[in-house]
Amino acid sequence: MKDPCAKRLCRIPPYLFAELDALKAATRGDIIDFGVGDPDLPTPKPIIQAMNRALKNPAHHRYPTYNGMAIARQAAAEWYERRFNVKLDPETEVCMLLGSKEGIGHLIWGMVGPGDRVAVPDPSYMIYRHQTLLAGAQPVMMPLKEKNGFIVDLDDVRDKSRLKLMLLNYPSNPTAGVASRKFYEEAVALAHKHDFFVVNDNVYSELYFEHKPISLLQVPGSLERCVEFHSLSKTYSMTGWRIGFAVGNRDLIKAMLAIKQNTDSGPFQAIQEAAVYALKHGERFAEANRAVYRERRDELLQGLNRIGWPVRKPEATFYVWAKLPRGRDSMGFTRQLLAKHQVLVTPGIGMGPHGEGYVRFALTAPKIRIREAIRRMARTISAGPPAASEP
Ligand SMILES: *Cc1c(COP(=O)(O)O)cnc(C)c1O
Repeated sequence: MKDPCAKRLCRIPPYLFAELDALKAATRGDIIDFGVGDPDLPTPKPIIQAMNRALKNPAHHRYPTYNGMAIARQAAAEWYERRFNVKLDPETEVCMLLGSKEGIGHLIWGMVGPGDRVAVPDPSYMIYRHQTLLAGAQPVMMPLKEKNGFIVDLDDVRDKSRLKLMLLNYPSNPTAGVASRKFYEEAVALAHKHDFFVVNDNVYSELYFEHKPISLLQVPGSLERCVEFHSLSKTYSMTGWRIGFAVGNRDLIKAMLAIKQNTDSGPFQAIQEAAVYALKHGERFAEANRAVYRERRDELLQGLNRIGWPVRKPEATFYVWAKLPRGRDSMGFTRQLLAKHQVLVTPGIGMGPHGEGYVRFALTAPKIRIREAIRRMARTISAGPPAASEP
């Protein structure tokens, strides 16, 4: 029989979170899940009510437009201007998405193919590297190092003029690093100098604890060759709804749309109406979510500190990127934690070679569960985590 899989599937490993799901399903007991970055908080009621009203409109039961409803693109553009002071043309510089994951994947397919090189942070959200590989292009990994606050060292990126695209993600999943204006300015200047394009995945722009993260598009000249992704998923606890948007350079947006037109038909219009409500009136929900994640962050950090595992304090995102106290084997550590204590984290190695030596806690469990996890882990940590493959 012929292999049912396309040859390109050999280029990517199995999806990490599907693997963790399998590991979780095979584990008995009361699991405390800090694995996937999926908010446990419900979508705010007024957003659900906006959706309920929109559902009754028969116009929404038909195919949506490919780039999203005009009112949704307008609301996204207005939100961007309010939040980042960046003016966008809602006709050409905004595109609604079925979640930013979809848009990131389709933008990569619209922009690169065999012979193209794409710079990808390491560690990072796996989609960047996997979609690059599926599209037949070559990922060039950019290591994120703790000594640089997990900000890409742009001097490290070799052969910049051979790059087609540089993918960035600040605030960063999984490291929680936050980029400065100076960093974005340097990235845009290099993009102009060496003729490549830059995409920033800014889905965590609203989950901050200290300073408000900025946008790549605040850099003058960035609209000529940059795109930024945003999502309602994490900000308003709407991961299941599948709604996000891309903003920025019209030619890049057009390339993404060309793939989308041949793949999907845009987000359900009732969901877009709910998104309009969230973009217009959602700041109070974002604020409330930040307060919850901040308390959880502090609970986890204090707890880990108490049991002898001090970790770096995240300034944004809902992740704690924890360096293993001893040992380099993040997968072994993750398995051990799950088997012994029914505590699930994400092994750093799953997000790139430079993620090794770390695990990621998503702050998607309530404080009482965080406390319980600390209690369970105390023994393992003080006894010393696995040193199996320590160099
Ligand atoms: C969760 C996440 C996404 C995907 O968000 P959706 O809008 O739900 O598709 C994209 N990028 C990063 C870095 C994420 O962590």
